[in-house]
Amino acid sequence: MLALDDIPCAMMITDPEGHIVRLNREFLALIEGDEAPWRGRSMDDLLTPASRIFSQTHLFPMLHHAGAVREVYLHLRGVDGETVPVMVNAVRKPLEGGKNIVWAIFVARERSRFEGELIKARAEAQGLARRLAASNEQVELQNRQLAELSLSDPLTGLRNRRALELTAQHWQCTASSSSSVSLLMVDVDYFKRINDAYGHIEGDRVLVTLASQLQAGARSSDLVARYGGEEFVLWLPDTDAETAARVAARVHECTKGVLSAAGPMTVSIGLACAPHQTGVDFLARLVQRADEAVYRTKAQGRNCTVVSA
Ligand code: GH3
Ligand code: MG
Ligand code: MG
Repeated sequence: MLALDDIPCAMMITDPEGHIVRLNREFLALIEGDEAPWRGRSMDDLLTPASRIFSQTHLFPMLHHAGAVREVYLHLRGVDGETVPVMVNAVRKPLEGGKNIVWAIFVARERSRFEGELIKARAEAQGLARRLAASNEQVELQNRQLAELSLSDPLTGLRNRRALELTAQHWQCTASSSSSVSLLMVDVDYFKRINDAYGHIEGDRVLVTLASQLQAGARSSDLVARYGGEEFVLWLPDTDAETAARVAARVHECTKGVLSAAGPMTVSIGLACAPHQTGVDFLARLVQRADEAVYRTKAQGRNCTVVSA
C-alpha cells in the first residue's frame, strides 16, 4: 500500500475540525519542521491570518457541505516570516482511524508571481488608458479651439469672413424658400486719418470698441463679422430691406458713441437684400451689391446708408 511519505506532494490529514493527525515528508520539508510538535494542533496555526479567516468562514463549511474542495488558494506561514502560496484539494475520508480530512497541497509560487504580474500589468494598462483618454480629451479641446480660432477675427473677437461664408451656406440650405436675407456692409469713415494722426494702436482700439457695439446690438440669429480692415458685415437672416434699414439706423446711432482720439466716429453702410436662393455665388453677389452701395455713400458724403437696388 502506498505510504503517505511516498506521495510526491505535500499531504496532511486532519480530523473534521482541522486538528492535525499526519503531515507527510514533503509537507514537513515545506515548513521545515518535524511532525511530532504539530500533532493535535489546529491547522489554523499553519495559515496566515487572512487564510485562517477564509478557512474558517468558507473552506470548512464547503468541505462539510460537499465532502470535498478543489483548487482552493491559501497562504501557509513558511519559515522566517515568509508566506508560501499554495493550492489545496481536500476530501473527507475514513482514514487513520476516523472520519478524517485528507489534504493535498501544491506550492503555487509561480501562479502567485504570475498573478502579481497580471495585476501589475492590468494597473499599468489602466493607467495607460487613463493617460490616453486624457490626451484624447486634450486633442479634442485643441481641435475645438483651433476650429474656433479659424472662424474668429483675432483683433476684435468677431466672426471672420470664413464664418460668414459658412453661415450663409447654412442659411441657404435651411431657410424657407419664401424668406429673404439682408446684408449690411459697414465701413468706417476716414478711418485712415485716425491711424495717421494717433497711430495704429488707437486705430485698433476704435475697431475693437466698434466691434463690441455692433455685437451688442445684434440679435442672436444675426452674424456680425469683421470682413476686412475697417469693414464689418451684419448678416441678418429672414430680414427684409425695410427692417434692415432700421438696423442700419441703429448702427449709425451707436457708432456716434464710439469715440476715437479724433472725436465721434461715423460709418457708411451699404444695404443689400435678396430673396432666398441656393446658388454658390449667392453671398458673393450680395456682398458685391452692398459694397457698391457703400461706394455710393462715400460719393454722397458718408455717414449714411444706401440701399442697393
Ligand atoms: P473712407 O471713408 O473712404 O472709407 O476712408 P478710410 O480712411 O476709412 O478708408 P481707407 O480704405 O483709405 O483706409 C482704411 C485704413 O484702415 C487703411 C488701413 O491701414 C487701416 N486698417 C486696416 N486694418 C487695420 C487694423 O487692423 N488696424 C488698424 N489700426 N488699421 C487698419
Ligand atoms: Mg474700407
Ligand atoms: Mg473706410
